[in-house]
Amino acid sequence: MATMTLREEATELLQRLIRLDTVNPPGNETLAAELLRDYLAESGVAAELYAKVPERANLVARIPGRGEGPRLLLLSHTDTVLADAAEWQLDPWSGELRDGEIWGRGALDMKGQVAANAVAIASLAREGFEPSGDLIFAATADEEVGEDFGLSWLCREHPDAVGAEYCVNEGAGDRIDFGGGRIFYLCSAAEKMSSPFRLIVHGRSGHASMPGIADNALVKAATLIVRLAELGAGRAAAHADGLADDRLRLAEAQRNPGSLRPDL
Ligand SMILES: [Zn+2]
Repeated sequence: MATMTLREEATELLQRLIRLDTVNPPGNETLAAELLRDYLAESGVAAELYAKVPERANLVARIPGRGEGPRLLLLSHTDTVLADAAEWQLDPWSGELRDGEIWGRGALDMKGQVAANAVAIASLAREGFEPSGDLIFAATADEEVGEDFGLSWLCREHPDAVGAEYCVNEGAGDRIDFGGGRIFYLCSAAEKMSSPFRLIVHGRSGHASMPGIADNALVKAATLIVRLAELGAGRAAAHADGLADDRLRLAEAQRNPGSLRPDL
């Protein structure tokens, strides 16, 4: 272990994780949890497995802090979506290293980050790192389908295991390489959400013999629905324009690092 670089250590762990089939359904994430537990134990990091059913375990490990600062949770999931081997150039569970890139189902979503987080906590433990608040590593089951075997179950049944003031999770943004060793990792501090509401439209009933006295609520609602649709379309277009502008600015900054705003 001592002769490996952290990059080599993360690469090897990622390959071993990819070679475990944790396609969800059915998941079988206990395979990955046990591999991670054994890997962390080599660096003296104790890990607990929490499982609603034996074959779908979540793993939680921590470097205890001095109790003087906030806790940080490095959060990840070990299940993957399906892979049809016929659509792949090589075996989706090969974990093959080709031209400096690791191939396989889950390499990006998200066994790569599972491996990086695990190597981070293992290497910090080997260095004797003592954080002010707990540093927690959680590799959870059932993110892709969400039938309550993973984080929702863990938070509800074992809140003390994963409770934290801060959390770093997947899907935050891109890695931007500006050249010359200047690499930025974008992060996202919020996510889109639904916003349900109830709209009540009042009218007045009439009679077939005197339709003129009616004030039909459905007809009024139809106008409102059309206007809501127009409002939504306008906002979506404005949002897409904003994202496109951001992308253009980043692309320009990559071409011309001097154009980078100092506050980025
Ligand atoms: Zn994911």
